[in-house]
Amino acid sequence: MFLRRLIFLGLVVSAADGLAANDYPVQPVPFTAVRVTGGLWQARQEVNRTVTVPFALRQCEETGRLRNFDLAAETLRRRAAGERHFQNQPATQNPFDDSDVYKVIEGAAYALSMQSDAALEKHLDGWIARIAAAQEPDGYLYTFRTMHPDKPVHVWIHPERWRNDPDLSHELYDLGHLYEAGVAYYQATGKRTLLDVCLKSAELVWRDFGDGRRRIAPGHQVIEMGLAKLYRVTGDRRYLDLARIFIEVRGPGGKLYSQQDRRAVDQVAATGHAVRANYMYSGMADVAALGGDVRYAATITTIWENMAGRKLYLTGGVGADSHGEMYGADYDLPNEAYNETCAAIALMMWNHRMFLLTGESRYMDVLERTAFNGFLSGVSLSGDRFFYTNPLIYNGVARNNNGRAGRAPWFDCACCPTNVIRTLADFTGYFYAVRDAALYVNFYAQSEGTATVGGTAVKLTQTTDYPWSGAVRLAVTPAKPATFTLRVRIPGWVQGRPVPTDLYRYDDATAAGWSVRVGGAPVSGAPEQGYIAITREWRTGDVVELNLPMPVRAVRSNSQVAALQGRVAFERGPIVYCVEAKDRKGLPSAWVAPSIGEISAEARPDLLGGVTRLTSREPKLGPAFTAIPYFAWNNRGLQPMAVWLKRPPLGSVK
Ligand SMILES: [Zn+2]
Repeated sequence: MFLRRLIFLGLVVSAADGLAANDYPVQPVPFTAVRVTGGLWQARQEVNRTVTVPFALRQCEETGRLRNFDLAAETLRRRAAGERHFQNQPATQNPFDDSDVYKVIEGAAYALSMQSDAALEKHLDGWIARIAAAQEPDGYLYTFRTMHPDKPVHVWIHPERWRNDPDLSHELYDLGHLYEAGVAYYQATGKRTLLDVCLKSAELVWRDFGDGRRRIAPGHQVIEMGLAKLYRVTGDRRYLDLARIFIEVRGPGGKLYSQQDRRAVDQVAATGHAVRANYMYSGMADVAALGGDVRYAATITTIWENMAGRKLYLTGGVGADSHGEMYGADYDLPNEAYNETCAAIALMMWNHRMFLLTGESRYMDVLERTAFNGFLSGVSLSGDRFFYTNPLIYNGVARNNNGRAGRAPWFDCACCPTNVIRTLADFTGYFYAVRDAALYVNFYAQSEGTATVGGTAVKLTQTTDYPWSGAVRLAVTPAKPATFTLRVRIPGWVQGRPVPTDLYRYDDATAAGWSVRVGGAPVSGAPEQGYIAITREWRTGDVVELNLPMPVRAVRSNSQVAALQGRVAFERGPIVYCVEAKDRKGLPSAWVAPSIGEISAEARPDLLGGVTRLTSREPKLGPAFTAIPYFAWNNRGLQPMAVWLKRPPLGSVK
């Protein structure tokens, strides 16, 4: 046992040096190497760390989610001591509640990676001990079964392990989040406690599924990504094989809801439950990149084109259909939209992986749209109220937020709040990436980071008020003079394209007069794959200046989207705007937009944590028009809201 441990530790150490034989051709600069130092993302991360993390810790404890582990441990203990019939009833409703605990640990671990916090670490150590105590001797971990082993305590659970996983038992789903948490906590603290629980579990999963004979497709994907992380951290190829097996096992004849209706390589459109779908496409990207099955890269490119061309909301949300939290049909994009916060988060994961596979900025364009709009709307500015659904119109009373009207403090199904935590905590992992001697600059925010390019450490300091201003000053400071290519992302919106498909377009699609300068000298040329490439010898003192003008843009949809005909939405830079009833009388479906020439942008540091709002004065339409960033809606009380407004009658256009 001791020897095995030693050997294993050796593997972990060498894996840190890049043991995976294949990986993404573009490598992200880790979030731990980039720190936001001001502006919107720093504010959101700070609220996440100081409010949302402790709030979620309390919620997991007060709602019984932690207690479920204690109840399972008690059953194990008392049965081992001879009480053959002892069992416990769960303290919560859903067998997937274990996953919330894991996601909070993952998010808190990312926060710990950025800022040490002895009290938080001690708190998590206590949780991890309770989780470990609930693991069965052979590695099985699923509190609802373990605490009540004689017969299923929930209708989703089959007497036999795993049998109902293709439906709703969520046994493998819980483990996917466990693996992500175990890796995150190990990387944050160096402690193997939770990682050892993961490896013991993964050994069991290998014994039960590794030969590929048991035809069980995970009913809720996510274990594929978790296994990819276990593979990266250990170098144990079996975990990659398991991820591939769990993708390969589907179809034909299974449920479309969980993407089991056909073989993964035969899938051509984004369908079924949107979170499950986006997690699967992300897992397929991981398996393709890591050398498990390269065909998946082509499959998910085809699916992505369907999603971005026909199923993407202007806010970057996906999942139109409230029945089953699913993707809708092509161009079926009702404004009442379901758009689960988790689906937006999973979409960002998927787009990031598509970028890492290809180096194409169109994926980062979609990621940016989702991040600033349909993702960020999922949590209140205060950090302790959440949206599960993110519609583009709201009537002021509907209980559309998983049974609640307006943002809620928590949900029986709390997947979204716990997903927000981990996504905000490691958000700076989206900023930069490296491929050979090229450095990609993908995200703009007041920040300091360090990337290693061609063996040279390069400090990157951004000074900007983005997304409120498109002026970005990027100081590039290599440890020693070094020649490499800087690829600076020129967002689609500044080039006159809101999305990289024909799903939406600007009324005025002319590019804004953007520019890139180095040392004051303009850089000429058109973007390649969305990037301006600057190859030179970089030296201390070099500064890149981006000017990305942000005129207010009127957006229209493709004529195939029935719900949006005769309607217009407004954007400025990467921000989608909405109108709230506080600023407009009447029914949101009847609100009429001012003409674009009447609208001006106004920086308001005192409003909603500091935003730029849009205003106009149009005497014919009564009160002045005011629009706020979509992500900030429902922070001024429960009230109607709309993103898409009626186009002004022709006579009112000047
Ligand atoms: Zn969710």
